[in-house]
Amino acid sequence: MINIPPSNNKRVVIIGCGFAGLKLARKLKHSGLQVVIIDKFNYHQFQPLFYQVATAGLEPSSISFPLRKIFQHYHDYFIRLAEVQRIEPDKQQLWTTSGLLGYDYLVLAQGAGNSFFGMKNLELGSKPMKSVAEALNLRNNLLRNFEDALAFHSDEEREKFLNLVVVGGGPTGLEVSGALAEMKRYILPKDFPELDQSKITIHLVEASGRLIPSLSEKSSGKAKEFLHRLGVKVLLNTAVKDYHDDLLELSDGTTIHSNLVLWTAGIAGNKIPGLKSGSIGPGNRIFVDRNNRVEGYSNIFALGDIALMKEDRFPNGHPQVAPVAIQQASLLAGNLKRLLTGQPLVPFSYVDKGTMATVGRNLAIVELPYARFYGTFAWFVWMFVHLMSIVGTRNRFIIFFNWFWSYITYDQSLRLIIDPEENKKEQ
Ligand SMILES: Cc1cc2nc3c(=O)[nH]c(=O)nc-3n(C[C@H](O)[C@H](O)[C@H](O)COP(=O)(O)OP(=O)(O)OC[C@H]3O[C@@H](n4cnc5c(N)ncnc54)[C@H](O)[C@@H]3O)c2cc1C
Repeated sequence: MINIPPSNNKRVVIIGCGFAGLKLARKLKHSGLQVVIIDKFNYHQFQPLFYQVATAGLEPSSISFPLRKIFQHYHDYFIRLAEVQRIEPDKQQLWTTSGLLGYDYLVLAQGAGNSFFGMKNLELGSKPMKSVAEALNLRNNLLRNFEDALAFHSDEEREKFLNLVVVGGGPTGLEVSGALAEMKRYILPKDFPELDQSKITIHLVEASGRLIPSLSEKSSGKAKEFLHRLGVKVLLNTAVKDYHDDLLELSDGTTIHSNLVLWTAGIAGNKIPGLKSGSIGPGNRIFVDRNNRVEGYSNIFALGDIALMKEDRFPNGHPQVAPVAIQQASLLAGNLKRLLTGQPLVPFSYVDKGTMATVGRNLAIVELPYARFYGTFAWFVWMFVHLMSIVGTRNRFIIFFNWFWSYITYDQSLRLIIDPEENKKEQ
């Protein structure tokens, strides 16, 4: 049994302290509930900037924030570092890697992980980016790739190290391809002058007919134009089929010889067993009503990427983005307080404030409900919004400084390969 001090307050257990869990926990301060947060990491991660860690633009610590520091001054709050393995709704308890825990209310906010659409070889061989650890692993692999290329003499032998492939033309695929292209343009010629830069190719492979299909046609076209400007080879209407022996097979019958395939193409909800099978929908998302209550349960709620709520405007559920998670969490905090005082609950309605993505310096896309803009101004808006969304003043300052430094010097200073596994191998 996980040791949590007894309390006169009812207990709400929040699984996951990502965008949704963090917002909810903060908003429940003074709610009269005992709050127990369980996460498998002891820090909150800012996923939108993972790609900058992966491409050596930012340190992992500047986009992560320790949970214990956030909740230092919260009364009747408890954090447990554990992975939830199973829910037992009938007994109002859950099993975790640290033991058993009871709850009065349960909130599922465990987000989503990678989906490889059943392609085992891609799951084994490609590099995803769904956690700080994966982003760091990607950085190691990327840098090691160029180091390894130097060991060979012929273009043929070097080819697989110099073909970098990004799978998935959503915002993350776009951002990481752009960052790689800028690395090729500004950093690699200085760091690796022995490599023939013309042989380094960044491929972006997308199964549908356009990039970021959630954007308007015009903005998708702009995204493609920006990538072309940076020299990224964009392959639309092309799906990946298999990946073995460093060969990526594509649906048009061609292959790309590559040692590094970045996976940004698919996600699926992080499944925790125990709920009725009828509660689970497509992509492992959990069906919830407009109060985020899991269908079939009175005291279990789900938020953010893991929740599948249908609104008239979103018949297949909301997009799996941070603003949905944050807005749902804010409303649920109010609704839990209403539950305690017997008031009627307020239904959720998503306010879509727009979408943005960046491709590189002075190249970004901002699409608001009534306006769209591209280029330098959009890039500054993108930077401002992301900077303001980061948890922690120190992190904001460090990121701002890093960005400013890169802007004026066209350089980054974080190209270190730090692999704890290497140490183990040596011992
Ligand atoms: C690379 C990348 C870039 C993105 N860029 C953007 C962007 O630019 N704009 C945008 O709006 N959205 C973006 N997103 C999407 C956005 O990050 C998600 O929509 C958002 O994080 C969802 O919030 P959440 O709270 O539902 O889940 P998450 O933020 O994923 O949090 C889930 C938490 O649950 C924990 N957890 C998972 N399973 C367990 C378990 N079994 N036991 C205990 N803890 C568990 C995890 O450690 C994590 O802390 C991006 C996502 C990625 C991966």
